[in-house]
Amino acid sequence: MGGRVPLAPLADLPTPAERLTAFEQELGLASLHIKRDDLSGAAYGGNKVRKLEFLLGRARRDGCRAVMTFGGAGSNHALATAIYARRLGMDAISMLVPQPASDAVRHNLLMGFKAGAELHLYPDKRRLKAGVAAVTYRRRRRDGRPPMNIPAGGSSTTGALGFVNAALELAEQVAEGLLPPPDVVYVAAGTLGTCAGLALGLRAAHIETAIMAVRVTEPDLANEAKARALFQETNALLHGLDPAFPVLKFPAQHFTLRHDFFGEGYGVSTPADAEAVRLLHETAGVLLDHTYTGKAFAALIADARAGRLRDKNVLFWNTYNSRDLTQATAETDYHDLPTEFHPYFERDG
Ligand SMILES: *Cc1c(COP(=O)(O)O)cnc(C)c1O
Repeated sequence: MGGRVPLAPLADLPTPAERLTAFEQELGLASLHIKRDDLSGAAYGGNKVRKLEFLLGRARRDGCRAVMTFGGAGSNHALATAIYARRLGMDAISMLVPQPASDAVRHNLLMGFKAGAELHLYPDKRRLKAGVAAVTYRRRRRDGRPPMNIPAGGSSTTGALGFVNAALELAEQVAEGLLPPPDVVYVAAGTLGTCAGLALGLRAAHIETAIMAVRVTEPDLANEAKARALFQETNALLHGLDPAFPVLKFPAQHFTLRHDFFGEGYGVSTPADAEAVRLLHETAGVLLDHTYTGKAFAALIADARAGRLRDKNVLFWNTYNSRDLTQATAETDYHDLPTEFHPYFERDG
């Protein structure tokens, strides 16, 4: 990719691709592998680390003192950004909006605080906008410059580069014989940087794998037009940096955004999601979450049970962190967080 894309080496790559033998027999697949991006970083794993290598690499090159990012109260992306920005000596500002309370949300809030993030919660989009203006103004006065904005989920073209590379990494693992070329990969789709980057990287590597991108956010965030646009814009960025990187066609016939596992809302578990999380934990000891990966794995199970994956080589891309941070959260008292977050710890749900 040339020397012109700054990268902060934060990730442990390549992540393993492991076979889930017990599960593949039960579901009648030729093979089932799991791409262990849950192990993508020593401090915190999951899919955001790959994006942050590029996003924070650019922030560092530009001499930013702080980065500002966005998400739901329990955002894995905001947490990953805080952990890795602090590691690079930058401040991290998390601009958060409400999401249903859960242990996972409480856990990420405590961790974000512990990591040193400046946490803000806004009840709606209008007040978020006002908050961005106010916090940016304060930072500009203090640091002499505004924070760098990282979009929700890290899904800019810069962030998506991380998953172009991830697809090339997969292609290498296939070439090494570590797994067969997947007929289909299942992956959770939130802000689409992961699935659009993978689609582009797989095309570039001449791998015909179909992508099942399982939508877990509202359709205004995750839709086909956005996936196509992010694919094309990321492609244009790469082609601009290096004309040897070809201009590729969006693989519409190999890319499906699945809308049927979303349920009632972002962060709201469904019965299929709950079953998928339980099954994978029982059979393989892999821990998924109820907001993203549980819904994606539920789609895989449903398709397998419906006979659509018979004798296929299937890959599940695990985008959820599995580093255990419970020790760190146990040492954190929620009363130290800004008061607007206290209700997450004081009511059930
Ligand atoms: C952010 C996230 C996703 C979604 O990735 P996008 O690139 O935003 O589509 C999937 N799984 C987990 C666990 C995440 O935190």
